[in-house]
Amino acid sequence: MVAEQKVFKMKGEMNKRTDEKILNYINGELCAPLSKLYLENYNPALGEVYSYLPDSDERDVEQAVEAAKKAFPIWSGYSIEERSNILMRLASLIEENLEFLAEVESIDNGKPIALARKVDIPRASANFKFFATAILHASSESHATNSQTLNYTLRQPIGVVGCISPWNLPLYLFSWKIAPALAAGNTVVAKPSEITPMSAYILSKLAVEAGFPAGVLNIVHGEGPKVGASIVEHLNVKAISFTGGTQTGATIAKIAAPMFKKLSLELGGKNPNIIFENCDFEKAVATSVRSSFSNQGQICLCGSRIFVQQSIYNHFKQAFKERCSLLKIGDPILEETQMGALVSKAHFEKVLSYIDLAKQEGGTILYGGKPVKVSGRCANGWFVEPTIIENLAYDCRTNQEEIFGPVVTLTPFENEEEVLAMANSTQYGLSATIWTKNLNKAHRIAQKIDAGIVWINCWLIRDLRTPFGGIKNSGVGREGGWEALRFFTEPKNVCIETND
Ligand code: NAD
Repeated sequence: MVAEQKVFKMKGEMNKRTDEKILNYINGELCAPLSKLYLENYNPALGEVYSYLPDSDERDVEQAVEAAKKAFPIWSGYSIEERSNILMRLASLIEENLEFLAEVESIDNGKPIALARKVDIPRASANFKFFATAILHASSESHATNSQTLNYTLRQPIGVVGCISPWNLPLYLFSWKIAPALAAGNTVVAKPSEITPMSAYILSKLAVEAGFPAGVLNIVHGEGPKVGASIVEHLNVKAISFTGGTQTGATIAKIAAPMFKKLSLELGGKNPNIIFENCDFEKAVATSVRSSFSNQGQICLCGSRIFVQQSIYNHFKQAFKERCSLLKIGDPILEETQMGALVSKAHFEKVLSYIDLAKQEGGTILYGGKPVKVSGRCANGWFVEPTIIENLAYDCRTNQEEIFGPVVTLTPFENEEEVLAMANSTQYGLSATIWTKNLNKAHRIAQKIDAGIVWINCWLIRDLRTPFGGIKNSGVGREGGWEALRFFTEPKNVCIETND
């Protein structure tokens, strides 16, 4: 209740232009950046600044790493139950503040509040709960080599770890890294995206309420090449868990690899959504609308390349177009809105430039293709219509490069072999969706497709125990379940001989 009062005092101010200044969270304190400089934070649905975030630099990172280093022996020395209890308290505080956090996320990111309420915030709480309880059940291996010799494996926390996250699912992905890192006994220096910093700031207030010892969790706000790079470069940060663009992942790898840091990279995607003639047609159409345009297509798992078997191509095209025309685009803070604003002006322009490129490449815009002028207070917001394009070669730039917006292409195919070749033709390999009632075929394709995650006759069903991540240029390593706890611990083999 105390937390609720403290946090809720900002409610109502969020929707207006305010001078709210976000603070860093270092060594248990909410503090201004040492530079005293701030960056503008936009409400994308209004297209205007509504708050400010710290323009931190390497000095703030230095303080955060120092605090985390000092806190490491304390936190890693806590019993598993003590660590679990604090993480569970944080999960409960997120739940208690669900409505407020959903509003925060919607305003900061432009996403429909209904989505933030149903997906983003419950998942952030679930992330903490999942890892808080996972550590209660974790065990490590032992190997009885012979009657006198036993090997056992210790799983020890690494030390100070860095967690860097993107803007599309701000609190959802931020907590997806922080939760396992802390649960495993590490201390954390984390950086949320400078484009959507607000929910991480609220999280730091909730962490104070939850009773984390000073320095266990540190959140430093600011730009990637400044704050993010300082975290990656710091000698005392022993592992980096990063989610973001492939290019940024490559930059991080270049710095971290010669320092022999542990690296987990969750990167971009260009996911195929494959629809065979013998699918459950209604379900395939309805789910494809969601997998194309949820969160304005700004989910790394969205299926942006839809391949439809030739015999049902025209039927699918009509039904899909009709469904898309029913999507309600508008003010994200309204309950009924299904598509909100794109996250920033730069991203809005990038998405529109890809629609232009598709036209230059000979594509036909079947539906959408233009910015949306929302009336009223959102008149200057960055909205784009759900856009469907056809008649493009599978290997053109529009079909090969990540757009990360409400833009999908439709491509017909004749048979399994052809669609597999097209689906596997990109540099990416994050996820894939397959629609068919023939399970033999589904299994065959699942085996052969270049993806770390395959959904058959469904999309975005997430079991937090499963390995999450991509192959090829979509990433290195896996998050989720034991994979995450393995990443955030160092295995140590101990061999003991018992004969005197
Ligand atoms: P981004 O790479 O621009 O930024 C991600 C984070 O990295 C931000 O916090 C940013 O400040 C930071 N950063 C930027 N430059 C850095 C540097 N030189 N050193 C250290 N940190 C730096 O990505 P984005 O635009 O925020 O997010 C969109 C991308 O994220 C898309 O490509 C999308 O596919 C990907 N993504 C992947 C997954 C996944 O699980 N694979 C999930 C969500 C988003």
